[in-house]
Amino acid sequence: MNPSVAHIETEFDLIRQKVHRVFAAQGITALQLRQISHAERAAKIKKLKMALLANSEAVIAAGFADFGKPAPEVSLTEILPVIAEANDAIRKLRRWMKPKKVWPSRMTVGTSSYLQYEPKGRVLIIAPWNYAVNLSLGPLVSALAAGNTVIIKPSEMTPHTSAVIAKIIRETFDENEVALFEGEVQMTQILLNLPFDHIFFTGSPAVGKIVMAAAAKHLTSVTLELGGKSPTIVDETADLAAAAKNILWAKFTNNGQTCIAPDHIYVHANVKEAFLAECIKTLQAAYGSAAEQVNSPDLARIVNERHAARVKALLDDAIAMGAKVVAGGQADLMLRYIEPTLLTDIPDDAMIMREEIFGPLLPVISYAQLDTVIASINAAPKPLALYIWSSKQATIDKVMQQTTSGGACINHCVVQFLHGNLPFGGVNNSGIGSGHGHHGFLAFSHERAVVRNRIMFAKMFYPPYTAFTRRLIALFIKTV
Ligand code: NAD
Repeated sequence: MNPSVAHIETEFDLIRQKVHRVFAAQGITALQLRQISHAERAAKIKKLKMALLANSEAVIAAGFADFGKPAPEVSLTEILPVIAEANDAIRKLRRWMKPKKVWPSRMTVGTSSYLQYEPKGRVLIIAPWNYAVNLSLGPLVSALAAGNTVIIKPSEMTPHTSAVIAKIIRETFDENEVALFEGEVQMTQILLNLPFDHIFFTGSPAVGKIVMAAAAKHLTSVTLELGGKSPTIVDETADLAAAAKNILWAKFTNNGQTCIAPDHIYVHANVKEAFLAECIKTLQAAYGSAAEQVNSPDLARIVNERHAARVKALLDDAIAMGAKVVAGGQADLMLRYIEPTLLTDIPDDAMIMREEIFGPLLPVISYAQLDTVIASINAAPKPLALYIWSSKQATIDKVMQQTTSGGACINHCVVQFLHGNLPFGGVNNSGIGSGHGHHGFLAFSHERAVVRNRIMFAKMFYPPYTAFTRRLIALFIKTV
């Protein structure tokens, strides 16, 4: 064998052995964690929160080093949501953990019942790169609240941010309780071969399928937080100025690399020109003139050259198929820069209308009939988010009743993520299960159904089966 290949294999084996050692050690910790109080769990979450705050400057610097992410965007979208998640869990954990009384059903008169919230055990969190801190430490808060041991696999695409997350984890936890392994696909494969009790994956639908298939081998439960094309509707009664400002903020924060960013907009034909004019005004106010935008400190970059080329290919394909560039359209792949771009007149079969854009391109499609918009949404895979801008209740009701999506906002965008009391998740292609707040706690808990006997009515059904037993069963069938 080639000596360098042998060397790589040895190194790989060492990493695998280390992962297996930590996983085995976490098995022992997981049994101990079943018995700890809410105060002990809360203390762990508090320690994590303090470590994040202590490292916040490093997180901000890493965000800039990885893809030029503006400091306020790091604070707002990476640090703040984790602090909110942590505070929420610390405040409510005692209530979440308390066994929940359940009334007996007609079948179980004579018993008392409750739900007991148990940690799942050893859990794996696989995080994407686009909000690397938020989407690894946020689920970690929920996993700790539920009393689990955790292994985190951050993305390899934002190495500076992953290094800071690794530092925070090392400073805060013993690896027998929370460990972090950096690495690419090979590392994920080592982890996915292990019989975790739950996997919480955030990333693309394509990799979500790989994760779910691997989980199936051990019948491991999964939460899949995936992506997709989130549609936005602006009807003729919408407040166009408010809609333009809010939609473009939601779209161009993180340079469009947000799972719940408005992917494309359906705007009523009667207000299309007025809406586009508001959008152009908003773009200039936010990022300066076209010439100034490339140097705007408020605009992040595309994460790497491969993705910049992917987004540019979507733009080129749309233009080649007849799309019109209303604003933007310039790109400098060396700088991983693509100008915030508004497109119209895009044919349905352009690549940009089929793939998740995940970049600063915004197709604006005009419509005359709401039914055609609803039909297009329902013909596509179920989206992670849907946004409707309208002041007409009948339109809002129609869209909400005739479509589906993981979450939705009416006259707002993306804030559903920040709402700690709502479940955050997708539906089918955009995800399975949900997280955040109490829902995150439940995702990492097993709800154990417990029945306690009070009066043994069941003995009436014991054999031998007499005529009386049969009459009783017949009566139950009629009355239950
Ligand atoms: P990705 O699916 O490429 O990667 C996610 C994680 O999976 C990373 O840790 C990566 O190392 C790992 N991975 C990649 N390829 C793998 C493979 N073949 N086998 C095993 N593991 C593998 O996603 P990304 O590029 O990091 O993030 C972008 C995607 O994530 C978009 O689709 C976006 O919509 C989605 N996303 C969803 C949410 C949500 O909350 N629903 C949040 C952020 C991003």
